[in-house]
Amino acid sequence: MKKHNFSAGPSILPQEVFQKASEAILNFNDSGLSLLEISHRSKDFVAVMDEARAIVKRLMNLGDDYEVLYLQGGASLQFLMVPFNLLSVDGKAAYTNTGTWAAGAIKEAKMIGNVDVVATSKEANYSYIPKEFKVGSEYDYFHCTSNNTIFGTQMKEFPKVDTLLVCDMSSDIFSRELDFSQFDLIYAGAQKNMGPAGATLVVVKKSILGKTGRMIPTYLDYSVHIDKESMSNTPPVFAVYASYLTLKHLEENGGIAAAEARNNAKAKLLYDEIDNNPNFQGVAAIEDRSFMNVTFTLTDESKQEAFDAAWKAAGISGLNGHRSVGGYRASIYNAMPIESVQVLVDVMKSI
Ligand code: PLP
Repeated sequence: MKKHNFSAGPSILPQEVFQKASEAILNFNDSGLSLLEISHRSKDFVAVMDEARAIVKRLMNLGDDYEVLYLQGGASLQFLMVPFNLLSVDGKAAYTNTGTWAAGAIKEAKMIGNVDVVATSKEANYSYIPKEFKVGSEYDYFHCTSNNTIFGTQMKEFPKVDTLLVCDMSSDIFSRELDFSQFDLIYAGAQKNMGPAGATLVVVKKSILGKTGRMIPTYLDYSVHIDKESMSNTPPVFAVYASYLTLKHLEENGGIAAAEARNNAKAKLLYDEIDNNPNFQGVAAIEDRSFMNVTFTLTDESKQEAFDAAWKAAGISGLNGHRSVGGYRASIYNAMPIESVQVLVDVMKSI
């Protein structure tokens, strides 16, 4: 029996995508060859890469001033590539510290140059999104994390800054409609809403590159990947193909607007139960609650054994909270059906 998978990842994808991707491993496009053995420079794979990049632009409603790249190294390598490409030798960058991943991005950027942390919620174990700060033109760029996967907070609005706006959207990309043109650079590890681990999406406004006066190692240089259309080195063919299938599936099922409506309904169902059931309480500040990663705890620890047994018996997996928060975390990414959320809510009602 397929489980109700509330795990934070990696890769909670639509069932149809798992099916088609597995078929391509045996026989890609009826070629008699596996997707894993055909040349990445073959016509069929180049078409996949081109379309995977094109769908991103269509979904985000972005024009030719943006480039879409599929890279490797995860979002973690972007923590380093962003400052290498955008932080000038004498300049400084502004970051908000809203969780473990934001802190990781700050750590890497500090290895490259000057970084100011303009706001943090660390003192409250990252349970809210700080909003009272200003970022002026003295900074080369401002970096934020749209959704804090571990702590269950999400930026509902993005600040107006007098510099470039850079965002790590790893755990809520394609989950809600945004004006994507407000960002100068967006990156995301594929493995939550858009594909398997191994591919990393970068969407970058071309005009912001080449201004730092730095020597950039070849793989870390966005311009190299733009010139080579994401084929500067061997791309992660399976991860790109499954990402392409996932985005095509999203496009064919109403695009981001429809995904957002489904995600809002799922989040409402679950948060309503957390708020109305005296056995549970939410972890994150209400106005900053994530619609992707729902963190909550039991109000009475003595019910833990009964609750854990009940959700496991209902075929639920991956509900344990991250060790730095404790309690529970229900990750309800794009591919999670509302029926599975209802199963969890029914279990919560039963204890
Ligand atoms: N940023 C966020 C918001 C994440 O949730 C994660 C991983 O879960 C990362 C960055 C790190 O991504 P990766 O494992 O692709 O390096």
